[in-house]
Amino acid sequence: VEKSDAILTLKGVGKHFGGLKAVDNIDLSIKKGELHCLIGPNGAGKSTIFKMIMGVYEPTVGEVFYNGKNITKMKNWDRANLGLSIKMQVPGVFGELSVYDNMRISAQKHMKSSERDEEIDNLLRFLDIIHLKYEIVNNLSHGQQQWLEIGMSLASKPELLLLDEPAAGMGPTETEFTAELVQKLNREGVTILFIDHDMDFVRKIAEKVTVLHLGKKFAEGTIEEIEANQDVVDIYLGN
Ligand code: ADP
Ligand code: MG
Repeated sequence: VEKSDAILTLKGVGKHFGGLKAVDNIDLSIKKGELHCLIGPNGAGKSTIFKMIMGVYEPTVGEVFYNGKNITKMKNWDRANLGLSIKMQVPGVFGELSVYDNMRISAQKHMKSSERDEEIDNLLRFLDIIHLKYEIVNNLSHGQQQWLEIGMSLASKPELLLLDEPAAGMGPTETEFTAELVQKLNREGVTILFIDHDMDFVRKIAEKVTVLHLGKKFAEGTIEEIEANQDVVDIYLGN
């Protein structure tokens, strides 16, 4: 995939909650094909940025562009149709339903009914949960539920996938598998912006890293540049 034009651009974006500038004047550009990671200590504003990209929050100031189109005030359901998809920090699965039913609900709008079951099976195979297709989601492990939610995000065939701490709460083996999934998706052409605070995970997969601190952009560069940046090391150690 050629990494050229920006798929997503934030210009001077801020989100203020009363006196708190949770996100403060952020400029951010994600290129097509990129695997880009947003890191920063707890409370840095990472999830709030995702919510503004998805239209859950309207920015207090600034503008958001998707493929050159100003989407700052667009409703979140319209953004999904543009090719934006998000997996939130906490799994948004329906625990009482089966894996298949969860996938079907997500796939409904985006897959032709004649191809839906086959596409769902392909995704479940990719996520290594095909053997759990008719299992009730509450019976799945934490990791399997997180993968299912990635599958639900993929059911809308996104061009840009946002992942908020996709490996949160996972053990080493599950984390490793999640890293592989993210890389495979990116190789298949999905642009990915993900949040994580686990540097081991970030080091494994991220090409480009943006560091947030107290709502502001603190540093940006390759993983090597970020890890060599003493100021970044300091804000993490200070946390
Ligand atoms: P991160 O994801 O980087 O840990 P968040 O984006 O969740 O950080 O939060 C950034 C800051 O904004 C935190 O101080 C948090 O308490 C605050 N915040 C987030 N959402 C709200 C809200 N809905 N109302 C008030 N403050 C909020
Ligand atoms: Mg968060």
